[in-house]
Amino acid sequence: MQSMIVHLIISLVTAFMILTNPPAEPTGTLHQRLYKQHGTFKESRIQDRRFKHSVLEGILKDLDKHPLFAVEQVGQSVQKKPIYLVRFGQGPTTVLLWSQMHGDEPTATAALADVFNFFQQSGDGYDSLRQAVLQHTTVYVLPMLNPDGAERYQRYNAQGIDLNRDALRLQAPESQLLKRMRDSLQADWGFNLHDQNIRYAAGPEGPPASISLLAPPIDAAGTADSIRLPAMQLVVELNRVLQEFIPKGVGKWKDEFEPRAFGENMQRWGTRTVLIESGGYHNDPERQQVRRLNFLAILAGLQSIATGQYQQEDIAYYEQIPENAQYLYDVVIRNAELALGEFSYTADIAINQQEKELPSGKEPFYFESSIEGIGDMSPYRGYVELDAKGMQLRQGRIYEPSFANLKALEKANIQNLLKQGYTSVVVEALPENLDHTSLPINIRSKPATTPLAVGEPADFVLEKGGKVRYAVINGFLYDLEKGKNTVKNARIRR
Ligand SMILES: [Zn+2]
Repeated sequence: MQSMIVHLIISLVTAFMILTNPPAEPTGTLHQRLYKQHGTFKESRIQDRRFKHSVLEGILKDLDKHPLFAVEQVGQSVQKKPIYLVRFGQGPTTVLLWSQMHGDEPTATAALADVFNFFQQSGDGYDSLRQAVLQHTTVYVLPMLNPDGAERYQRYNAQGIDLNRDALRLQAPESQLLKRMRDSLQADWGFNLHDQNIRYAAGPEGPPASISLLAPPIDAAGTADSIRLPAMQLVVELNRVLQEFIPKGVGKWKDEFEPRAFGENMQRWGTRTVLIESGGYHNDPERQQVRRLNFLAILAGLQSIATGQYQQEDIAYYEQIPENAQYLYDVVIRNAELALGEFSYTADIAINQQEKELPSGKEPFYFESSIEGIGDMSPYRGYVELDAKGMQLRQGRIYEPSFANLKALEKANIQNLLKQGYTSVVVEALPENLDHTSLPINIRSKPATTPLAVGEPADFVLEKGGKVRYAVINGFLYDLEKGKNTVKNARIRR
């Protein structure tokens, strides 16, 4: 009885505390809190990767009203889209950050918008960080340096030039602008912000390189002069900060000297430059988790420059960051049994699902998948892995008779067709210019098959005990036993 009363009192006290106390302040180190609270600062107008220049313009227009920020048009793209410079802080150390010089690498632009939001808030436990940055540095940002590329979601600018191979010739107006900004500001520090292939891992055994870092080399020998050395120290610090949130998931971008790249030349021109590459993360196709890591890395970098913390770092640790390389595929199917003529053999199949843009560059984009490897793929890992031990891989067949049009196909029992080993159908009247379908079966204008070979579409079935267990349609798995369809789109070929 007594213990019941005690319990009752405890329950009442707890209920009272819940009712009266405000939500607890997040605990932990500064970086842990920033990471946890990223959502508070996340710019809501950017939710995915294919946002356009007009969205950024809206954000910058509002930003310009805030007394802390100055936003100024400093140039324009080939297609006459304004390129803006954002300035905040009044300190003696100048930091220049530029993002999205490759139009299809938007993650850092999103993170920068979050950083702008961060500096507009106050009274939340981060004011000393803000003050340190604002007093000791002046921060200049060129977000979305390649707006024409962003519009089409492509790497190149409207001239087809890779801006990051134009640092010496300076034939693109966007490259000229970046060089002019560096020279006029005599930037002490540079942040070269990119996205990298999600199939890069942090070393052969590591997870996806969600972030890769580099202090770009100034020569082929990898000399660490008085400019590059502090950049290497900052990389060491950022690596340590990020490791807490993505253990082993930080890579070093390959250290090869690329004489035409901006990172290398910024460093040679006297700007201590750090490359930050946003990479892949499990179940993060829009890289919103990687955006959060980027937000943290940018703030941690600015903080370290403002306080001089990086000077404590030992560059011996720089060499220990594992070099990233393409150790990942989108899908790896292991140990499938194949037969070709008289040969029976076991092979792994590696598949990549490539994003394709619609002419408008807007969503929905779609996928075209291809087989990237057949054989022993044991050194590689897949975002999706399937052990097909005991399963026979059979080339997908094409179903006949043909369907008159798409309407007729939509009425068909497609799962049933897949169960019979068909991965394609023929449709007679196909709409013009349509090259993909949300249906989980490929469509052709006439009967034809593709071979099971590297570079060819990934369309086949996996049988177990004479029954089709999985269909692989355009590189996506359809689990026919569980009825689980992961096919984002199939292809239409004429
Ligand atoms: Zn890039």
